Amino acid sequence: MVYIDLNELQRTNKLTSQGFVEPSEFNLDEFGINLKCPLGIKLEVSHSGKTDFLLQGIVETRLEQKCRKCLKPVETTLSTNLDLLFRSKDSLKEEDEIEEELQFDWKQGHLDLMGHLSQEIILHAPAFVECHDSCQGLCAGCGNNLNHSVCECPEPPVDPRWDVLLNH
Ligand SMILES: [Zn+2]
Ligand SMILES: [Zn+2]
Repeated sequence: MVYIDLNELQRTNKLTSQGFVEPSEFNLDEFGINLKCPLGIKLEVSHSGKTDFLLQGIVETRLEQKCRKCLKPVETTLSTNLDLLFRSKDSLKEEDEIEEELQFDWKQGHLDLMGHLSQEIILHAPAFVECHDSCQGLCAGCGNNLNHSVCECPEPPVDPRWDVLLNH
């Protein structure tokens, strides 16, 4: 777990930390993302104005996602900068439209960052991956991987919506 010690932050100008978070601490299955190695983090927390604070840093890891055509696992490197302004609840005015996740209360003692770290991974992971530019994918008929084998399925039928045009 990664968190900011708000009591300590109150006593000091700046907090820094660095370390690794094990892949098992994340649950990104539903996004089709696996971490292939621990997430490396380097964080710096500094005050912003009288009541708020800024979290800046770098997160790095390697991800595994499935090729969108043939489902083969594909690894990519993720390296992204964090830059989040957290607003103290007592300084917020009603008209301020600040996401709930970026609000905090000094009285809460510490602020859990795991949700934010997951969010960064999801936001910066590739929207899709392909094992190769020319991946042939899987046959829609028999499921064979067409990169490794051919199959004898008939050509897929032409979409009937084209008939109207073709018969003219
Ligand atoms: Zn592929
Ligand atoms: Zn086939």
